Amino acid sequence: MALKGTRRNDIRLIAGLLLAAGILALFLHFTRTNGGSVRIEQDGVTTAVLPLDRDTRQTIERDGDTNVLVIENGAVWVEEANCRDKICVRQGAIRYTGQSIVCLPHKLVITIEGGSDTPFDAQTR
Ligand SMILES: [Zn+2]
Repeated sequence: MALKGTRRNDIRLIAGLLLAAGILALFLHFTRTNGGSVRIEQDGVTTAVLPLDRDTRQTIERDGDTNVLVIENGAVWVEEANCRDKICVRQGAIRYTGQSIVCLPHKLVITIEGGSDTPFDAQTR
């Protein structure tokens, strides 16, 4: 009987932990992605800042170097590039403040920044 009771408590504990983890993940998801923007730098110069919450697809071009940038559902990735190593493409999607995708051959840096003009983001700092 004691064992049975313990097991039931274990299940309840695990369920509680899973629930807490789920809530935390959800909380982080919303607070971390809120109000973010995507900074595009080429050769150390910021050429564009795009809102993270607006889906877009655009080709970044510079002296024949191209990277196709996609922003969708709060995530950013390089879908296509004509650089020699394709590391920027293989890096996959980023979605949190501070993360970045770097294309060394093209001297391109794509960074996610927190939007300082939103109350949600201010709370997380
Ligand atoms: Zn690249």
